[in-house]
Amino acid sequence: MENKKKTKNAQCKRCLNKFQEKEIYTIQQFQYRKSPPYDWTKEFFSIMEIGEWDSFCEDCVNYYGKISNNIWLKYCN
Ligand SMILES: [Zn+2]
Repeated sequence: MENKKKTKNAQCKRCLNKFQEKEIYTIQQFQYRKSPPYDWTKEFFSIMEIGEWDSFCEDCVNYYGKISNNIWLKYCN
């Protein structure tokens, strides 16, 4: 029998919510934004002990995108 229920086997590092693997977000998506530069972004997250392979849900990655951008604008520009 095929189990049609989709398994939630990924977990967000920040809020600890479980979700499907295809919905994983990582900080790697920030390499596509105009600013801050991705090197700065990686450094910023390494201080917060977040690596490029850590999994986050959409809400949390948006949250991190917002705060990193705000800090960049306020202190690093
Ligand atoms: Zn989350």
